[in-house]
Amino acid sequence: MRKLLLLILGLLIFFLQIVEETKPVQSNYIVPTFKRFTLSQVLRNKSIVKFVNDSLIRAPFKSAYIDVKWGPLHPRILGLTTEVKEGIFFIQLSRGLSLEETQRVLMHELIHVYQFHYNLLEDLPGGGIRWETKIYSWDLAWKERPWEIHAEALSTKLFKTDSTNLGN
Ligand SMILES: [Zn+2]
Repeated sequence: MRKLLLLILGLLIFFLQIVEETKPVQSNYIVPTFKRFTLSQVLRNKSIVKFVNDSLIRAPFKSAYIDVKWGPLHPRILGLTTEVKEGIFFIQLSRGLSLEETQRVLMHELIHVYQFHYNLLEDLPGGGIRWETKIYSWDLAWKERPWEIHAEALSTKLFKTDSTNLGN
C-alpha cells in the first residue's frame, strides 16, 4: 500500500482547507507572550498564497487537503508536515517564532506537501524514505537530506515577506 499519491487517473477536485485552531488553551498552559499573531495572519503571506495557487492548485487537479495548526512540537522543530493518508496533509507550526519566520517555515512545509503530492518524496512503510528514485534512511543528517535541500532552495527562491512586497 502506497501512502503517497501516484499520478491519479482522472480529475479530482482539489481543495485547500485551512482550519484555524480556535480552541482555548488549557488553564494549566501558560500562553506564550510571543504569540502575537494568528494562523490567519501567517496564511495571508502573498508568496505563500501564490505558491499554493501556482503549484498546489494546478492542473491536472488532484485532491488534497491541507490542515495547518499550531503544533505541540519539540522546541528544536519549527515545522512538521505529515501525510495523514493519501492526499491529506497536516502541517504543524511552532509557536516560538516571529510572524515572518513562521511564514518562512510554512513555505518550507508546503514545499514538502508539494514533494509528497507530486510523488518526489515518499515515506516508505519499512522506515526509509524515497526521494525521486533513491531510497534514504532517516539517519541521514537534516542538512544532507536532498528533500530538505530542495525545500530550502525553493523556499529561499519563492518566499517573500510581505513587508518586502510593500517595499519597506
Ligand atoms: Zn523540511
